[in-house]
Amino acid sequence: MSHTIYFNKEHEQVRKSIRDFVNKRLNPFVEEWEEDGIAPLHDLFKEMGALGFLGIRYDPKYGGEGLDYWYDVIMLEECGRIRCGGIPMAIAVQTHMATPAIAEFGSEYLKETYLRAAIKGEMVGAIAVTEPDAGSDVAALRTYAKKDGDDYVLNGSKTYITNGTQADFLTLLARTSEDPGYHSFSLFVVPTDLPGFKVSRKLDKLGMRSSDTAELYFDNLRLPARNLIGQEGEGFIYQMKQFQHERFSTLPLCYACAEELIRETVAYLKKRIVFGEPLIKKQVLRHRLVNWLGEIECLRQLTYHIVRMKSVGLDATREISQGKVIGGELFNKVAYGCLQMYGGMGFMNEMWISRAFRDARLYSIGGGASEVLCDALGKLEGF
Ligand SMILES: Cc1cc2nc3c(=O)[nH]c(=O)nc-3n(C[C@H](O)[C@H](O)[C@H](O)COP(=O)(O)OP(=O)(O)OC[C@H]3O[C@@H](n4cnc5c(N)ncnc54)[C@H](O)[C@@H]3O)c2cc1C
Repeated sequence: MSHTIYFNKEHEQVRKSIRDFVNKRLNPFVEEWEEDGIAPLHDLFKEMGALGFLGIRYDPKYGGEGLDYWYDVIMLEECGRIRCGGIPMAIAVQTHMATPAIAEFGSEYLKETYLRAAIKGEMVGAIAVTEPDAGSDVAALRTYAKKDGDDYVLNGSKTYITNGTQADFLTLLARTSEDPGYHSFSLFVVPTDLPGFKVSRKLDKLGMRSSDTAELYFDNLRLPARNLIGQEGEGFIYQMKQFQHERFSTLPLCYACAEELIRETVAYLKKRIVFGEPLIKKQVLRHRLVNWLGEIECLRQLTYHIVRMKSVGLDATREISQGKVIGGELFNKVAYGCLQMYGGMGFMNEMWISRAFRDARLYSIGGGASEVLCDALGKLEGF
């Protein structure tokens, strides 16, 4: 396959060790975790941390592997092979959503305390941005952190927070001023063992069922000022940068999973006899499948292009947003289309395709809905 030219022997060794972990320690338990509506992230992350999977790109000074974006892509591609969306999402929250801002802008204290523990898998992280009245419009958020002596006093609520019932810390965006504009927000690390923190509700969802999603509540939570990430008033900007990591992570997750779904569908169509012959003989189905594989290859190549851009320090905001939109829509299209080819069987909960169809739905909503990213892309294009 063409993409093998991008990876050397060391890359492939890492890929194999992640794949082995996925096959042995994750995939056999997916049904159970989907049923439970939660996965034991503390146990899993400890194992993954010990294997070096949670700190691929992070500085060895804090326990990371200090590897490049190619290894990061390998990790994400292999996570795309997990037979549900909930577990890859929980992992990506730990590696690409709750920790990048700590690594990039956090103090030595925050990196030593939270980044190191997240990389080791000793702490579970969550990213807390969305609120009941502020999703796409992040700047509408109301959770307030008021400076009081050496503390900030936090009041408000967050919703749809992935890993929310298990998290040891939240990377949380709050207002620190009522002034209009983007300099009224600050990003904090909020430990969940402080008085005033409450998980108000674990949410029941259409998909991503093995991932726990929670509504969180902060009632006069006193947060030490040293838990502020970077400078007060710069949090919105830090979070926009952090979103780039989150959005980037969705590209490999989408194309790798879509590709696996197609492989599995082909295997089914070869066996399923309809009108006296295997369904795979139907040209209309074959054409659909190869067209999707072509689109998947385009998305993979865009991802590898982004890796090359990042590797030389170029800003890939435009390409990442393009890829997030394309990936979300493509994954949904493939999941919908493959389910159609399974017929009634595809509608059964016992089938991976039915779960993928439900899980895929989130990719064009979460972390910037397709329309929101298209708006931002339009601005970048100057219209
Ligand atoms: C399972 C799950 C897990 C999540 N995990 C997290 C998490 O860990 N942390 C976190 O902070 N958030 C999380 N979220 C929140 C997620 O990022 C938001 O749901 C998303 O950003 C959309 O915000 P909203 O739901 O408030 O939708 P709204 O902002 O109410 O938007 C609704 C819809 O309106 C359309 N729309 C919005 N803006 C525009 C526009 N400018 N032009 C045209 N159409 C538009 C879009 O289609 C959008 O889907 C999660 C959500 C889910 C469902």
